[in-house]
Parts: sequence; C-alpha cells; structure tokens
Amino acid sequence: MRQSDEAKGMRTRAVHAGERPDPITRASAPNLVMSTTFVIDDASAQFSANAMTAEAPYAYTRWANPTVRQLEAKLADLEGGEEGIAFASGMAAATALFLHYLESEDHLIVSDVAYAGVAELARQTLPRLGIEVEAVDLSDLDALRSALRPETRMVYAETPVNPILKLTDIRAVAEISREAGAFCVVDSTFATPVATRPLELGADCVLHSLTKYLCGHGDALGGALVGSRAEMSALRQGAAIHAGGVLSPFNAWLILRGMATLPIRMAAHADTARRIAEYLEEHPSVTRVIYPGLPSHPQDELARRQMENFSGMLTFQVKAGRETARRMTERLDVIHYAVSLGHQRSLVFYLPTDEMQENSFRLDARQLERYREFAGDGIFRLSVGLEDADDLCRDLDRALRP
Ligand SMILES: *Cc1c(COP(=O)(O)O)cnc(C)c1O
Repeated sequence: MRQSDEAKGMRTRAVHAGERPDPITRASAPNLVMSTTFVIDDASAQFSANAMTAEAPYAYTRWANPTVRQLEAKLADLEGGEEGIAFASGMAAATALFLHYLESEDHLIVSDVAYAGVAELARQTLPRLGIEVEAVDLSDLDALRSALRPETRMVYAETPVNPILKLTDIRAVAEISREAGAFCVVDSTFATPVATRPLELGADCVLHSLTKYLCGHGDALGGALVGSRAEMSALRQGAAIHAGGVLSPFNAWLILRGMATLPIRMAAHADTARRIAEYLEEHPSVTRVIYPGLPSHPQDELARRQMENFSGMLTFQVKAGRETARRMTERLDVIHYAVSLGHQRSLVFYLPTDEMQENSFRLDARQLERYREFAGDGIFRLSVGLEDADDLCRDLDRALRP
C-alpha cells in the first residue's frame, strides 16, 4: 500500500484509519478475531501483563486483540490522539480512568451535571475510597478557579452535557486545569470527533461511550479513552488489563463498521435535528427548545466556536411533561420512547428535574437554579435519528396534541 504524507480528510480517515488489508488473506474488510489466545512462537515469552510491551505479539485477548486494536487506532486517529483504549462500556472506561488516576486524599472536580452513571459513580463510590469529590458547574470558570486546590488531581468535564445540553469551554477549562497541575478529561460522547476534538483544545484525555454515535446502530456497548501514548500505556496496564473491563472483539467489529460512516451520519443527524428544533420552537405545545445549533441556545457563541457539527441531541419542554410522556408511549409510531442515544432510530425520553436531582445530581440551591435554567421542571431528551424529518415532526405532533 502506498503511503502519502498529506493529511487526509475526516471522511477518508473514518473509513481507512487503523485498518489495513489482512497480510495473509488480503481481506479488504477488518477480520473479526474471536480467539482469546494466540500461539506463542517465542519460548521466552512471559506470563504477566506487567512484562508486556506495545510491540509484543498477541498473547491473550484481555491484553490485546487485533480487531480491538483496529478500533483503538481508528478512534485515536479521529480524535487526533496518540493512543486509544477500548472498554466494555463507557462506564467501564470511566471506572478505569478514576481507578488509575485517583487515590485516597486526592480531590476530584467533576461537572455538577454529567451522565447520571458517572455522577453516581463519582459521588457514591469514590468517596468510599477516600477520594474527595466536588461537583462544580464547569460552564462557570470562576467556580472552577475557586474550587481548585493543590490536591486536585483531575477535572472531569462533559460537553454538551447529558441531559441538558449545557456547554463547557474546553480550551479555557483545560488551561485552568493545566495551570493548577490537574489532569483534564472531557466526556465527548455527545459531540463525537466530528464536532469537537478536545485533545486539540488542550484536554489531556477524551472519554467516549462508543455505545452511542460511534457505534451508531444501537447494537453494541463499548467505551474508550484517548490520550498521549505515555498516559494510555500506563492506564492500559493497570486499569484495563488488570481491572479487566475490556471490549469484546465482536463489539469492536460492529463498532468499527459503524465508525466508517460517522461523518456522514453526523451531518444527517445535525441537519434533521436543526429542522426538528425549528419545528418544535414554533409548536404551540412546546415552551422551550434547547439545541446547540439554534441561535436561541444560551451559549450560542461558544457552540459556534467549539462545535463543527451540532450533533443530533436536542431537548424540549412542555407544560404537562408526565402527561405528554404517557401520550408518547401510546401514540408514537416512528420514534421509540426509550433511553440511550446516537442510533439510526430516533429515541425520546422524559427526564423530570425532581427525579434527576434526587437520584443523580443532588445539586446545591445555586446549581439547581442553573439546572432549571436549562431544564425547567423536566425535559424531553430527543436523539434525532436518520429518518425523514417530516415523519419525525408528524410523530411528535401526534404526541404533543392534547
Ligand atoms: C451513555 C453515556 C455514558 C456511559 O456509557 P455506557 O456505554 O452506557 O456505559 C457516559 N457518558 C455519556 C455522555 C453517555 O451518554
């Protein structure tokens, strides 16, 4: 294969990066290697992951697997990072990250609103290990500055944040974290590398739930971290191989296939989401729409500066949320009333503010006020799929009409 030095475009890299034809069979598509063990030709090979190097031949699939490796290389390329590590789920990636970097008496700053699983893991489990966890509104840079301490080991941001689509200025948060000597992580699941590449903006590590847009088809769980080779190699040893939450080769193979179409899917998701957001803004039953691609988004300037694609996630509010949610379960024809996001199928789910506050976020009075500025009493989180916009609008109208 000829190699050229010119930087290739995102669509080309989504198709080709990390993959190469099989050297023996010349198969063009990535092989699915399900073998858990590999025949060892060198009798001096050692039986511990501690002795493994990046150049070592394949030995055992929890250590490294050729199908998973292709996914890791493709994702690292798209994010502009040196190395990626794939995990069994986004939560397995978050657990590995916290376990690897944090120890007793460290201070962790986590976005006050974050994916509910991460918020609950950080606030309920990490304090049991002696880690001090502080929830901070990272869209407020002064709040971040005053929360930082000499013991702050990590700043964990998420943008756009699940579920309310509030944005964090990655460049600013990364710079403030660096000055304070803290490791800056960004959960970029909602943005994908098509919209935003946090490493290019100064973050140290990117986290993805591959389950969402990167897979894109709602049929495989996965997670990943991307960062520098030095950081990721150490993390792979301690927290991926030893903690063991690695990605199955079958899921890697499905997600790789999804990733090839990521840029064209994201363009379609964003285009349809904007049309639906505009439709809902005019709908008599809808009181508020939040979409980073609309000028009405409270952080419109940051959205345009930081996002090259506005993704397919939007939220809307109505007067009678629970009643509308009930009508959705009865009347929706195309859209599935279901959790998760980033699939080819559109998905919608109602998230009442009181339940989110009680179960996941436990915000203080000021933070809750800021949450309500984006979510009111509750939001419908809509993951706009790849269907026709007109069909989705008709479906929503059926459920929104009394
Ligand atoms: C879904 C999600 C996660 C968790 O990922 P899983 O693959 O479900 O474990 C983390 N962060 C965000 C933003 C998510 O949407």
